[in-house]
Amino acid sequence: MVMQQRTLNLLAALLLFVIHWQSMAHCRTDVVSSFNVLHYLFELHLNDFTDKIEGKASVFVHVVCTEEKFTLDLNNFSPSTGKGMQVDEVTVNEKISAFDHQNNRLDIFSKGGFKQGDTVKIVVKYSGVPADGLIISENKFGNRTFFADNWPNRAHFWIPCVDHPSDKATVEFWVFAPNKYQVIANGSQMEETDLEDGFRLTRWSETKPVSTKIMVIGVAQFAVLNNGIVEGTSVSTWVFPENRQDGFSEYAVGTKPLAFFSKLIGPFGYSKLAHVQSKTRYGGMENAGAVFYAESTVNGRADDELLMAHETAHQWFGDAVTERNWHHLWLSEGFATYLTLVYLKEIAGDSLYRQRLIASRKAVNRYEGKKSAPVIDTTVTNYNELLNANTYQKGAWFLHMLNHELGDSLFFESLRLYYLIYRDSTALTKDFQHVVEMVSQKNWNSFFHQWLFRSGHPKLKTEWSQNGNLLKMNIMQKQLGDPFFFPLTLKFVYTDGRLQIETVNISEQLTQLRFKVCADVKEVIYDPDISLLFETTF
Ligand SMILES: [Zn+2]
Repeated sequence: MVMQQRTLNLLAALLLFVIHWQSMAHCRTDVVSSFNVLHYLFELHLNDFTDKIEGKASVFVHVVCTEEKFTLDLNNFSPSTGKGMQVDEVTVNEKISAFDHQNNRLDIFSKGGFKQGDTVKIVVKYSGVPADGLIISENKFGNRTFFADNWPNRAHFWIPCVDHPSDKATVEFWVFAPNKYQVIANGSQMEETDLEDGFRLTRWSETKPVSTKIMVIGVAQFAVLNNGIVEGTSVSTWVFPENRQDGFSEYAVGTKPLAFFSKLIGPFGYSKLAHVQSKTRYGGMENAGAVFYAESTVNGRADDELLMAHETAHQWFGDAVTERNWHHLWLSEGFATYLTLVYLKEIAGDSLYRQRLIASRKAVNRYEGKKSAPVIDTTVTNYNELLNANTYQKGAWFLHMLNHELGDSLFFESLRLYYLIYRDSTALTKDFQHVVEMVSQKNWNSFFHQWLFRSGHPKLKTEWSQNGNLLKMNIMQKQLGDPFFFPLTLKFVYTDGRLQIETVNISEQLTQLRFKVCADVKEVIYDPDISLLFETTF
């Protein structure tokens, strides 16, 4: 019976997904975008004499709604800095087309407009010194390197694209670079050919649609190690040659989270997984199939395992299943943060896991003291500000509490189904909620709302007294706004060491409780299982 119900749920979910996909493919007044990019092919010429790059972008676009113009994001040339991109020519279906490049937007016009239902090929020839996005610099050994670092929407500093996570597309990179360099990118390597002029052409192709935030190339002198096949996925390590010994050794642990998450969530979404020492500004950046790590992560300390687990978890959540809108970033970072804790529990046991949960809860409490905002904060316009404790730790704590309510079985079934349905696509929080509701056969609207869409968390003032066998307790919610509702576990510790566990449902500003106890209580421990996001106050 359970299996049959599960099968029905699964079919219903897939059907809903197909209906959703079909509705997106038709022109309606509420459609988000009139265009859907299907595929990018970027030809990029790099050299050692100048930071100027020459590019040719072929963009294959499905026209969802008839429009006069199609717009790509592309950083403009700035005379004051000498950086930015200049467009030399644009064609639409091989015909020279008019374009207007202003305010980092490239408007492209087609004679007769873009007709609903058509698929068009747009080619943009451009050149310039990237002001950002493609970091051309020296690594810590003084050697020249080129590393893309796109998050959140910095891809348009070096490639013309729809620089928003809602529009995922397959991508090819054809990189022409001096032949002393090796090139890593998303997908599978299709070609590596030495050319006559001291340059080498390297082609990579990603056949799964990905968002621009994780479309990358890395061009440098690398030492490359094949780490073998893990759960069907080819793993490799790319480090600077000077760090060959330490890098190969330290990044080798990256195979473990790949195996763990493949078994826990579902098959890995890409053709290979490369762990790459790079010049990313972040500690790690979860580029699809080619995770870039800060160059300082190779340091002889072998302390990269949890970072690698976090970036690897992103391959499922953030990369394969992508938040459709920046404000739902917790679907990426909250998931990666929580799954890293789950991984930690697997490798290190319960004690460290609990320590990390407590530390995360403190981080949320501290952040809330500085800025009271919901996890899904639609007021943020500078997306870097979304890299905060709400997105990471509170997002993780939300999943932890959901797991506590559902139990491991239903919780991970929800994650697996969510991945199955939205893999290679995009999702919003309501989509994840819908999956949880299908799996659990229960309405989670209030739960999602109070933890993700409103600010704050319970701030509890507690007091208790004992008179014989009667223990009286008051629990007051002191945070601003309506009271939260939540189960609270209490552990009574008797003077003789015995324990009594009680769980109560709290939903009022003031909850008055009475407990029958059988000896003198010396201490009450609130939330002994570390399963509630709250803080105590006076
Ligand atoms: Zn992350």
